[in-house]
Amino acid sequence: MDDCIFCAIASGETKADIVFDGRDTVFFRDIHPKAKVHIVGIPKQHLTSLDAMTAADQALVGKLLHDAAHVAEEAGVTATGYRVITNVGGDAGQEVQHLHFHILGGERLGPLNVR
Ligand code: AMP
Ligand code: ZN
Repeated sequence: MDDCIFCAIASGETKADIVFDGRDTVFFRDIHPKAKVHIVGIPKQHLTSLDAMTAADQALVGKLLHDAAHVAEEAGVTATGYRVITNVGGDAGQEVQHLHFHILGGERLGPLNVR
């Protein structure tokens, strides 16, 4: 999709600190990390958010989460624990309109704040 920063990372047009590059998914370090380990995982195919997901995308999104667990293992946070989150839309503060899961860990995380 034009003007999508994560599509540009998926295609290699924009550089990122990539930690896993699969056939259908790519994972890279967040440019503004909110934890010692902060990795973003995306499908290479453009999907705006979880809200845009259809039944046809179930295998892809399942793969993305399965790859996230693998990437967390590689990042060394499996034993200590980590959090996977996705923001959908305005109230969640979604900044990039391409589905992504944040992997956060490497230190004790705060509570899941609602405000
Ligand atoms: P969200 O608020 O869930 O849409 O999160 C978007 C995330 O993408 C933020 O944590 C940004 O720091 C991160 N981000 C935006 N542009 C880039 C980029 N070029 N490389 C790595 N991370 C990025
Ligand atoms: Zn995109």
